[in-house]
Amino acid sequence: MTENFPAPRRDLCGAMHVHRRLLNESMTYRAQRARIESRALQYETGRRSSVRRGVVTLPVVVHVVHNTPEQNIDDAQIHSQIDVLNRDFRAANPDVSRVPEVWRTLIADNEVEFALATVDPLGDPTDGIIRAATDRTSFDVDDGVKAAATGGSDPWPTDQYLNVWVCRLGGGLLGYAQFPGGPPPTDGVVILHTAFGTTGTATAPYDGGRTATHEIGHWLDLFHIWGDDDGACSNDDRVADTPNQADSNVGKPAFPHVTCDNGPNGDMFMNYMDYVDDDSMFMFTQGQRERINACLEGARASFLVARQAAPAKEPAAAVAPAQAQAEDGDVERLLHDSERLTKEVLADIQNMLGLVGHETGK
Ligand SMILES: [Zn+2]
Repeated sequence: MTENFPAPRRDLCGAMHVHRRLLNESMTYRAQRARIESRALQYETGRRSSVRRGVVTLPVVVHVVHNTPEQNIDDAQIHSQIDVLNRDFRAANPDVSRVPEVWRTLIADNEVEFALATVDPLGDPTDGIIRAATDRTSFDVDDGVKAAATGGSDPWPTDQYLNVWVCRLGGGLLGYAQFPGGPPPTDGVVILHTAFGTTGTATAPYDGGRTATHEIGHWLDLFHIWGDDDGACSNDDRVADTPNQADSNVGKPAFPHVTCDNGPNGDMFMNYMDYVDDDSMFMFTQGQRERINACLEGARASFLVARQAAPAKEPAAAVAPAQAQAEDGDVERLLHDSERLTKEVLADIQNMLGLVGHETGK
């Protein structure tokens, strides 16, 4: 593999494939992406700053879609994955100490945590884990795993739960994600069962739970750190504090690895949004955190905003995850903080609630 002439090679992650397909297929997605990108740019350039305060905990539902007993991973493996996410997104992972000195000040605590859902959409207690047997021996980036009708498992409301499907993926894929702004029925991330968590079927070198960290990074609007330009150095990840780099890094690179005239420090290959082995990636940056904030206060604001009194005909229980957020204040308070919240932000949030069919209580 050379830096400037991409050789055919497997993609470990299918997120950009899905992104490009949706851009081609859907005018709605294109419009949503333009709006989301505009907001991200405003956060990135400091023209707008994050208004959320405190840690947000995202309710997670894990769909284990299995064709063999081995693929039906146990609860411990799932819990090990949640633990990794909670360390990685808070910069509480022990290996963050391996970040090169030159980038120490860029390490970001995103103030995002994850918890398996405790209440299902019908209001019943749940452990946040769904197990679905399938006839399909493997899945692809075609989203088949995301619907029972195609051998997968139907999502829970994707504006209230982060849906994670765990299954066998073909083509050497470790996982894929749908960026914010995509169709709600397929929103979420898909992870290969042997690249999920740190126990059970998790297999080296992808047994550190970092595939889910990477894919949820996409779900929160982060691009690959090399900008997906196949080594051209012409496109970057739209984050200012990550060096422009030519192409993905794999394996366990040695620091520094210089490409695109980005010396002396070179590629930030230890970033979660590169392709290196799980034990070689251990940081998000402040700039990436700004994109995540823009996403959480924009396209994914439903995870911050408490649902107002839900109509009786609706499942009462779906309210619970959002109510948990309300206790932290967050957007519920912001909705009434006109000094800090511009009309545009307010309109965005209300628009988002309208898009997902929520009562705003207004
Ligand atoms: Zn990716």
